[in-house]
Amino acid sequence: MSNGGTVVIGAGPAGLASAAELRRRGVPVVVLDQADAIGSSWRGRYDRLRLNTSRWFAKLPGGRYARGTGTFPSRDEMVAYLESYAERYQLDVRLRTRVERIDRGADGWTVRTSGGDVAAAHVIVAGGYDHTPFIPDWPGRGRFEGPLLHAAQYRNPDPFRDADVLVVGPGCSGMEIAYDLAEGGARKVRLAVRTPPNMLVRSPMGPGIALTLLRMRPDRADRIVNFARSKEIGDLSEYGLPVPEEGVFTRLRRLGVAPAIIDKHVIQAIKDRRIEIVAGVESLDETGVQLSDGTRIEPEAVVAATGYRCGLEPMVGHLDVLDPDGVPRVVDGVEVAPGLRFIGYMPIPAQLRHSGRMARRAAKAIAGDVRARTGAASGGQIAAVGAS
Ligand SMILES: Cc1cc2nc3c(=O)[nH]c(=O)nc-3n(C[C@H](O)[C@H](O)[C@H](O)COP(=O)(O)OP(=O)(O)OC[C@H]3O[C@@H](n4cnc5c(N)ncnc54)[C@H](O)[C@@H]3O)c2cc1C
Repeated sequence: MSNGGTVVIGAGPAGLASAAELRRRGVPVVVLDQADAIGSSWRGRYDRLRLNTSRWFAKLPGGRYARGTGTFPSRDEMVAYLESYAERYQLDVRLRTRVERIDRGADGWTVRTSGGDVAAAHVIVAGGYDHTPFIPDWPGRGRFEGPLLHAAQYRNPDPFRDADVLVVGPGCSGMEIAYDLAEGGARKVRLAVRTPPNMLVRSPMGPGIALTLLRMRPDRADRIVNFARSKEIGDLSEYGLPVPEEGVFTRLRRLGVAPAIIDKHVIQAIKDRRIEIVAGVESLDETGVQLSDGTRIEPEAVVAATGYRCGLEPMVGHLDVLDPDGVPRVVDGVEVAPGLRFIGYMPIPAQLRHSGRMARRAAKAIAGDVRARTGAASGGQIAAVGAS
């Protein structure tokens, strides 16, 4: 290893938590982010967004939310939280610095950035699981004449007033955006569902319960959650949302797909048919959308809440550390290659808290390594951005 210095890629929650945990252990660390402000993912999200995990389950290590923050912090409260967290731990965050690629160096790693190369003994990649908006390659997608946007581009319902809008995908974002549109004056709102989602009602203690259930056998945990669903949500089969055969925890384990966490008013809007559930999208043409049940509809706009990809291939695709879906093969703060770790790539309930825990685990291991090599945790040096 070259110098004991550590580079963290990404100034979102996972990257900031990693850097803070390293700083607390006296390990020199620099955080690189391509954006021009900390917490850029949150800054770009829609106006109505609040955390679906209560603030007690969304804390980063050593970081309380400011007094007065809501139970489910808003987007702007989350941004303020991240800013004050970075300030509190006096993190060395270098903005407008895009990491293009990471290469094995003679003695550690060379992080190739838009500002030059940085040498580091340890690298933590925290560029975000929800990195690159993904829209399926539906036949005719390019022919659709109305606006077709990803949920990541959606801000508020204003541009869709009086419009007929199709939202695609029944995850947290899809459900909430459909509700936002229905509340915000869209003339008609449909939600296209290919696979019925698992759903949990947003509640302050929900993440704690989910984390406890996560330790149980998935089929047992699923039975408990389905019982709760039948009490809290009821049977939505007649509205097009039957209870899926594969429960929350089995699906989470098999596919890494987290359940939709929604508010009761969204469920009510579905029951009132202010949000109409329709079949999945098959194809598009100039003026309409063909659905998988043979129906054709003619929405004026389509919002695709169809997920994200990690987008890590250009950076680390050559290092044999990604699985076939482009997700890091090791995501729990442990090295995937000597000195290389990924934090924030496990889409589970209360992901923020989980990332914090993984950050702590990684920082402990890195501090131990630095101590072993230098005799003191503060012995490492960070090479400046721009130095090659
Ligand atoms: C709409 C939405 C709502 C969510 N709500 C919750 C919630 O309520 N509770 C919860 O626990 N989780 C939630 N999550 C999941 C997750 O916790 C958040 O997305 C969280 O922001 C992830 O943190 P992160 O640091 O891993 O990634 P991000 O917040 O995405 O941060 C990654 C950072 O890396 C930077 N970056 C990426 N690539 C590069 C590069 N090549 N070079 C330099 N910088 C780079 C980006 O600019 C960004 O600042 C939500 C996710 C979404 C999409």
